[in-house]
Amino acid sequence: FFAKPWIFVRGVPSMEFLPPEGPPEIAFAGRSNVGKSSLINALLGQKGLARTSNTPGRTQELNFFVPDGFAGSAADLPPIALVDMPGYGYAQAPKEQVDAWTRLVFDYLRGRARLKRVFVLVDSRHGLKPNDLDVLGLLDKAAVSYQIVLTKTDKIKPPAIPKLMEATAKAIAKRPAAHPEILSTSSEKGRGLDELRAAIAGFAER
Ligand code: GDP
Repeated sequence: FFAKPWIFVRGVPSMEFLPPEGPPEIAFAGRSNVGKSSLINALLGQKGLARTSNTPGRTQELNFFVPDGFAGSAADLPPIALVDMPGYGYAQAPKEQVDAWTRLVFDYLRGRARLKRVFVLVDSRHGLKPNDLDVLGLLDKAAVSYQIVLTKTDKIKPPAIPKLMEATAKAIAKRPAAHPEILSTSSEKGRGLDELRAAIAGFAER
């Protein structure tokens, strides 16, 4: 299904707009500018699908994507859905906006039976930041499995990559929710995309 075209299903600003539970869901989270839109577009081989460089403060929505060609009825569900979570960590975000983000994301994390994993994207130049740790805290609390994905590894020296992976693994080793191995990617160079696709494909049905 990575070879198929994907389509945007809907943007969900609050829980009442969630699509009914259907295919297994995989979500992507990360600080604004981490390279989340670029990574989703690179994974799916579609340039304009996830919007890149979202302006800070724009509507915060969970954006749902599925491979095309499925009617979406109970008899013809897509094998998987991807959920692009709104970015976090804008320096100037007002408190109400941060609270709204936390409410939307936490409600979704806690309430979504078909959510299988959240990929938490971390800029390889910056490593884990305090607000990433806050998000890992939400994931732990909601008992959702997550996997760290380093982005933009073309921006750091190659020997720094394994060091960062090791340091990051160590930093999260004692966290309660399941968190399998750290992935490292560059959308720009196409690095790590097959590994990430394989991790996602493991959750697909049919
Ligand atoms: P988002 O806010 O997390 O969706 O981030 P974007 O995908 O819009 O990317 C933010 C900026 O980082 C843009 O200027 C991208 O061109 C750049 N970027 C994204 N991925 C990569 C990458 O793998 N390598 C490099 N060098 N730049 C990247």
